[in-house]
Amino acid sequence: MPIHFLNTFTCNAHFPKKWKTGLLSLLIESDQGLILVDTGIGTGDYANPTPFTRIFRVITEMPFDEDQAAIRQIERLGYKAEDLKHIALTHMHFDHLSGLADFPHAEIHLARREYDAFMGKRKSFFDLAYDKKYIAHNPNFKLYDDLGEKWFDFDAIRLPFTPEMWLIPLEGHTRGHCGVALKTEKGWRLHCGDAAGDFRKDIPAWAIRLVLGPHEPRLRAFGEAHPEVELTASHMFLDFFND
Ligand SMILES: [Zn+2]
Repeated sequence: MPIHFLNTFTCNAHFPKKWKTGLLSLLIESDQGLILVDTGIGTGDYANPTPFTRIFRVITEMPFDEDQAAIRQIERLGYKAEDLKHIALTHMHFDHLSGLADFPHAEIHLARREYDAFMGKRKSFFDLAYDKKYIAHNPNFKLYDDLGEKWFDFDAIRLPFTPEMWLIPLEGHTRGHCGVALKTEKGWRLHCGDAAGDFRKDIPAWAIRLVLGPHEPRLRAFGEAHPEVELTASHMFLDFFND
């Protein structure tokens, strides 16, 4: 089951300058067709950016290169949009779902709590990154409740795919945020989404707590206790993609 690591949104900080990050979308060749975990920025946002995307272009340094759109990268791998059958979302912030409309045939899998947060009243500054424009094409959502299952010692929601895939509720960054655990040929991969930063880098704990929520210390400890599980986060630094 090959997994492709796509950078679908480069977003660099003005300060500190060394914080140059991408948005890790996982493209998985499964028994059910291609599955994408998070879309990154889609072609619609490049053609006609939403207000929040425009703000982000000012407060960060974005190359804003449409070649980074998941659809363009999937085409370069020799596939068509229709080959992508499923999209799993860690959460519904603009940088994780902006590309949904590029894959109108795909089923969209996510936690019901996240969908409800997205559809409900904005309650925090970070909720400004929710924009219903991204679902104006009426995507086919499959919403999941937490039924009390476990993956290792994490609460977990099984997705209907082979090889095994689980949503791991890690709420805090948003009210329904989930990581995604994937069974690979080598073992397990836990993609932590926006519940953690790039574990390879020295990011101040206060910044992680403020922006990404409470789970990072537990995830880091889990990674140290389970070196056989590979951990990633959404906003990996650019050297992750280039190496
Ligand atoms: Zn986010």
